[in-house]
Amino acid sequence: MSIILKMYLFIFVFGTMIGSFINVLVYRLPRNINIFLPRSFCPGCKKTVAWYENIPLISYLFLRGKCSKCGLKISLIYPLVELILGVVAIFLFPRDLNGESLLHFVMMFSSACVFTAMFFIDLKFKIIPNGLNLYLAILYLVYAVIYLPLNHWLAGGLIGIGFPLVITWIFYLIRGEVGLGGGDIKLFGVLGLYLGPIGLIYNIFFSCFLGSIVGLSLMAMKKMDKKNPLPFGPFIILVASWQMFFPESFKMLLSYLK
Ligand SMILES: [Zn+2]
Repeated sequence: MSIILKMYLFIFVFGTMIGSFINVLVYRLPRNINIFLPRSFCPGCKKTVAWYENIPLISYLFLRGKCSKCGLKISLIYPLVELILGVVAIFLFPRDLNGESLLHFVMMFSSACVFTAMFFIDLKFKIIPNGLNLYLAILYLVYAVIYLPLNHWLAGGLIGIGFPLVITWIFYLIRGEVGLGGGDIKLFGVLGLYLGPIGLIYNIFFSCFLGSIVGLSLMAMKKMDKKNPLPFGPFIILVASWQMFFPESFKMLLSYLK
């Protein structure tokens, strides 16, 4: 095996291992279970998962997606998260390795991990845990102070919190119900630090647009009703991922729309 291929295999395995940890977060954070203890267990029979049943991707295949003791189905989300983060790690890993590009990799890959956790937690539990927003806030604040001009991140953060708050308030006055959750508003504020004011307004626009299309389609197919609305976080995250990981194609879309 060539050295390059070995390196990519190593980075892929690294990504899937972090993915395995993200799975722990997705399961435990919304249920308020300690992240580190107890060791992973089957939610059906409480059997502790042996180390060889906990190898990213491979264990799911050799267990054929079932608990080895009680046969409870293991969600396909687990190997999916591991696969996604393995591929993302390869995609983001810098082609020319130096201190700065490695720092950028850590920051982008951390974002991808937190986005993945938020996406699946919000999809299922309709919450965005404060801890995840706080982690991103610290990460982006440090990055922004070092690399970005003050007016970019300060205005981005303020508009990120302020604009959705005003919209939610107006919505509340008109309809008497709260549209956006507190976690969504905090996430906008956090993303504003990195995306800046303009990037953040694009995010609000496109995530509302995408959310409306998906929401209306699901309602038309009678798969959803107004009493049980879609979580909004996944749309914010999809658009933010596009802006952060594929900035060139996002710019192309904007110039096409203009
Ligand atoms: Zn079991």
